[in-house]
Amino acid sequence: MFRIAYVNGRYRPYREAAVHIEDRGYQFADGVYEVCEIRDGRLIDERRHMERLQRSLAALQMAAPMSAPALATVLRETVARNRVRNGLVYLQVTRGVARRDHAFPSAQTPPSVVVTARRLDRGRHDREAAAGVAVISVPESRWARVDIKSIALLPNVLAKQAAREQGAREAWFVDRDGRVTEGSSSNAWIVTAQNRLVTRPADQAILRGVARTVVFDVAKAHGLEVEERAFTIAEAYAAREAFMTAASQIVLPVVRIDGRPIGEGTPGPIASALRHDFHLYAEAS
Ligand code: PLP
Repeated sequence: MFRIAYVNGRYRPYREAAVHIEDRGYQFADGVYEVCEIRDGRLIDERRHMERLQRSLAALQMAAPMSAPALATVLRETVARNRVRNGLVYLQVTRGVARRDHAFPSAQTPPSVVVTARRLDRGRHDREAAAGVAVISVPESRWARVDIKSIALLPNVLAKQAAREQGAREAWFVDRDGRVTEGSSSNAWIVTAQNRLVTRPADQAILRGVARTVVFDVAKAHGLEVEERAFTIAEAYAAREAFMTAASQIVLPVVRIDGRPIGEGTPGPIASALRHDFHLYAEAS
């Protein structure tokens, strides 16, 4: 398929789309991003993703690259030009192109904006969810502000690679106290013996996932209680169920952690129900 990418005001053939070598995203990972699900041609939870984008930009003292309606148009146009009905739209904003110097460039430096869209195979994702996935644990090695959705993802990259090498889908970071923070690209959840959902509070130690927020609403509708507290990896091993959430995979049941089966070693009823009903509670626009 002939793909198109939006780069700094222009829609370019994907193969030719490029930013300058002095872009601060390339030089310093000085930028932020968002990934939004596209389902049946509509953006899922765009409002929350855009609100989080604003928070990430503000935390890095970056101005919005364009007005909210203009950005919404670019996202839609990129999705449309790539004819994506089910997939993801990716948005990246960096502090722009400037002579290499760690400190911020002049305030007049325009930010760089890149938007891409790609299709996802929903059938493959559903099959993966039906089988459940394996997770490994890795020591938390990230900086203290992972609540900012920055493009600086090296520890996440290394964690995901470690998972892949061990035949697992995701790596869960575990802090010095033995408590799970989150996955390398997802939030982590367990279900206790009392059928209570547990996930870490969204302080600075995790990214406040949009899918995580939606799951609070799905859980409420199912009469399930959510405890926002840190849980240990030992608690996760002994959990009735475990799962992870992210825009790209919604709710994905976890059936093994560090080689140990979770619950029955198959996707649990709660994770499966949350996945099934997710889009009843997400916003489509
Ligand atoms: N945590 C991390 C580190 C992530 O990278 C992501 C998504 O990419 C998430 C959590 C889940 O966030 P969301 O539900 O907004 O996709």
